[in-house]
Amino acid sequence: MTMLQETPPLDGQMMQGALSIPAIMDYAADVHGGARILSATVEGGLHDYSLVDASKRIARLAHALRAMGIGPGDRVATLAWNGYRHFELYYAIAGIGAVCHTINPRLFPEQIAWIVNHAEDRALFFDLTFAPLVDGLAEHLPRRMQRVFLSDEAHRPETCAEDVLAYESLIEGHPDSIDWPDLPETAAAGLCYTSGTTGDPKGALYSHRSTVLHAMSAILGIPQAFGSAKRILPVVPLFHVNAWGLPYACPLSGTDLVFPGPHLDGKSLFDLMETTGTTGAWGVPTVWAGLIEEIRQRGRKPKALEMLLIGGSAVPPAMISALEDFDIRTIHGWGMTEMSPIGTCTRPIAGASREDRIANAIPQGKRLFGLEMKIVGEDGTPQPHDGTAQGELLVRGPAVVNGYFNAPDASKAAFDAEGWFRTGDVARIDSAGRLQIVDRTKDLIKSGGEWISSLDLENLATAHPSVAQAAAIAVPHPKWDERPVLAVVPADKEKGVDEADLLAQMARHLAKWQMPDAVITMDSLPMTATGKISKKDLRSRINVDFGDDT
Ligand code: AMP
Repeated sequence: MTMLQETPPLDGQMMQGALSIPAIMDYAADVHGGARILSATVEGGLHDYSLVDASKRIARLAHALRAMGIGPGDRVATLAWNGYRHFELYYAIAGIGAVCHTINPRLFPEQIAWIVNHAEDRALFFDLTFAPLVDGLAEHLPRRMQRVFLSDEAHRPETCAEDVLAYESLIEGHPDSIDWPDLPETAAAGLCYTSGTTGDPKGALYSHRSTVLHAMSAILGIPQAFGSAKRILPVVPLFHVNAWGLPYACPLSGTDLVFPGPHLDGKSLFDLMETTGTTGAWGVPTVWAGLIEEIRQRGRKPKALEMLLIGGSAVPPAMISALEDFDIRTIHGWGMTEMSPIGTCTRPIAGASREDRIANAIPQGKRLFGLEMKIVGEDGTPQPHDGTAQGELLVRGPAVVNGYFNAPDASKAAFDAEGWFRTGDVARIDSAGRLQIVDRTKDLIKSGGEWISSLDLENLATAHPSVAQAAAIAVPHPKWDERPVLAVVPADKEKGVDEADLLAQMARHLAKWQMPDAVITMDSLPMTATGKISKKDLRSRINVDFGDDT
């Protein structure tokens, strides 16, 4: 799209109804009031209520927040699992014009303290699980920050100081309806810091408008997942990029939500899906290994489960195929914290064969409405969308950040001269608009001047039955600059990885120079706080000396 330079267009004569988060809840309670929100709670047991009930508690919480002195623009932090109280915080905080700042509890305490201070959070709401963490952090938190644990007095953690409030007491007695303030749709509503592999964490500050548009685009892009007959279980956490927009997209579309609480192992997920009749679940690839194992052991899938939406890292083809064995479809999505987060997703092909379904779910799919994508060469020149040319992927759209929160230097570096956001991913786009992520710019392996995709190596490795997980990294080499080395986790610890057979299988798909120079078996791969394989940690652990092996 190009900008109009001279003649201004004629203004339309339409009202400016705000695209706001409270408008989602008002609409949802009115139109889909009976939709359910089920939560496996930290205290134990399953909590189950309707959207109408949720909207009443949200109103009470909004009044309580105001009574605490929280006002427009204030940041309010959460450290919590996926559950109904966390969901209520999303709506009440944003509804009064404050900013819901979700924090990843898997970060190191020093990182959490840094983020809370950078965001200048006014209050912190936390699950019982994280009471010791919050205790330990106390002296590093802003002095006047109010703390609230997400339960009732009966569950007050022993270590909690007296001035730490109980959520249920906090909201008690407040009216269960509210006139939401008129907020400009550009007002900030949510804040999430990227885990940031280099430098300090950077905050993506979502607006009401970006959040609503992202939710609507997600419903348009993945229509088969949503609707009153569907129940979605976000394994993807509310503490990371708004659980991929589900807390907004589900109420908007009348879809039931199933929050899994703290237990994300295969057995707990299977049982929860079974008892709640979950039809779809969303999360990163690493969380599905346990569920697939459980499904294999029981010889069947949870009865209503139709599809998994998998993203955050490339989905190994072997995972798509394992799910197909049990009649579970994969939607593959790609996105970033800075993109609210979904950018693209695969679209099912009606009547496709099993092979075609698998092939269709391997690339990252097509863009959501509103998002524009371009790939550029090293000098910034746009590359054709022909499925062959590859380059860095840049994006723009109404759900993409235009800077980082209070970080002018990081913000400058993140955009090109035309204001497109640099994703740091290397990709191809074909003539049908399908995105294929080749690698992270910094994870590509350059051997003898030729690029090798670490993703290709990993996908081939995980296709071997003796491999559960794989990660390829570049190791410095005196002659070739870099050579690929593969770290693998065996599917069966006792049997280990059949290295000769693995390499023979990979050699059928790769040129000799693309093959890994070493295969290293590990008990587990290092993970980031968002459940992705941490190549940075892996590089520091793997030390292959090629010497002068030229
Ligand atoms: P985050 O902001 O932590 O969610 O990380 C975003 C990054 O994760 C992207 O820039 C990609 O490198 C990676 N990523 C997300 N989804 C996918 C996917 N489906 N395939 C490959 N990489 C992905």
